[in-house]
Amino acid sequence: MPYGRILSDLVSQYRPRIVLYGATFVGRDLAPRVASFTRSGLTADCTDLQIADVSYLKKEYQDLLLQIRPAFGGNVIATIITPEVPVQMATVREGVMERVTLEHPTEGTITEVPYQPDEMAELISIVERYREESKVNLKAAPIIVAGGYGMGSTENFELLHELADLIGGEVAGSRAAVDAGFIAPERQVGQTGVTVRPKLYLACGISGAIQHRAGMQDAQKIIAVNTDPEAPIFDICHYGIVGDAMDVLPMFMDAYRKKLR
Ligand SMILES: Cc1cc2nc3c(=O)[nH]c(=O)nc-3n(C[C@H](O)[C@H](O)[C@H](O)COP(=O)(O)OP(=O)(O)OC[C@H]3O[C@@H](n4cnc5c(N)ncnc54)[C@H](O)[C@@H]3O)c2cc1C
Repeated sequence: MPYGRILSDLVSQYRPRIVLYGATFVGRDLAPRVASFTRSGLTADCTDLQIADVSYLKKEYQDLLLQIRPAFGGNVIATIITPEVPVQMATVREGVMERVTLEHPTEGTITEVPYQPDEMAELISIVERYREESKVNLKAAPIIVAGGYGMGSTENFELLHELADLIGGEVAGSRAAVDAGFIAPERQVGQTGVTVRPKLYLACGISGAIQHRAGMQDAQKIIAVNTDPEAPIFDICHYGIVGDAMDVLPMFMDAYRKKLR
C-alpha cells in the first residue's frame, strides 16, 4: 500500500512538529513505517497527550509533546518525550480521550496532494475485500454490566446477561473472566481490551486492577459489587456494595422489576 510512502514524503517535506494517528489496524501499521523512514519519535497507544516546556538532561525544550501511557504491565504511567527529533508522533486508541467541543472551532485547510504511483505501489494489489461487522459495540452501550473472575462460572455469568437484558445494557468482562472462558474476548474491558465510557458501569466480582480500570474509570457512574471490602474497585466506584454478587444481582433485578410495575 502506498500510504507509507505518501505520508513519509509529506512529513519529510513539511516537517510538522507533531503527527497523530488513530491506533487502528491501519494506523498501527502505518505509524512505525513513517516514523522509521523519517527518523521521528513515536509512542504507541497513548492515553493522554499534553504539550509543555521540558527541562531534560540540563537542556531546555519548548512545546514538547508529552506522550503519556501505561507502561510495565500497566503498573506505572509513563510520560515519554522524544526531544531530539524534529517530528514527534503518537498513536491513540479510539475512545480513550473524552470528545470535547472546541470553544473556537476552526475550519482547517485541506490541501490536495497529487499522487504519482510508482512500480512499488503495483507490487501489492487488493484482490478481494471481506468486511465483517463487529458483533458487539461496547463503546456505544450506555449501560455495561461487567463481570470478573469473582463471578465464578459461565453459569453465574448468566445472571449478568439477565440483568443486562432487563435494563438494556451490554455484558462485558475482565481479562481474568475472559481467560477463564466466562465471556468472549471481544467483550474484554481494559488496557488490552476495549475502553468504554458508558453512563453506567456495573462491576461485579471485579477486583479493579489498574489494567481493568484503564478501560472503564471514566464511566459516568460506577457501581461495584464485591465480597472484599478492600477491593481496589471500591476506590473508584460511586456506589459500592460489599456482598456476594449471586445474592446482590437478583435483588437488583427484583427492585428494578418492582419499579417497572
Ligand atoms: C499487560 C497486562 C494487560 C492487562 N490487560 C487487562 C485488561 O485489558 N482488562 C482486565 O480486566 N485485566 C487486564 N489485565 C489483568 C489484570 O491485571 C487483572 O489480573 C484482572 O483485571 C483481574 O480480573 P478480575 O478482577 O476479574 O479477577 P480477580 O483479580 O481474581 O478478582 C476477582 C474479584 O472478585 C471478588 N469476588 C470473589 N467472589 C465474589 C462474589 N461471589 N461476589 C462478588 N465478588 C466476588 C474478589 O474479592 C476479587 O476482588 C492485564 C494484565 C497485564 C499484565
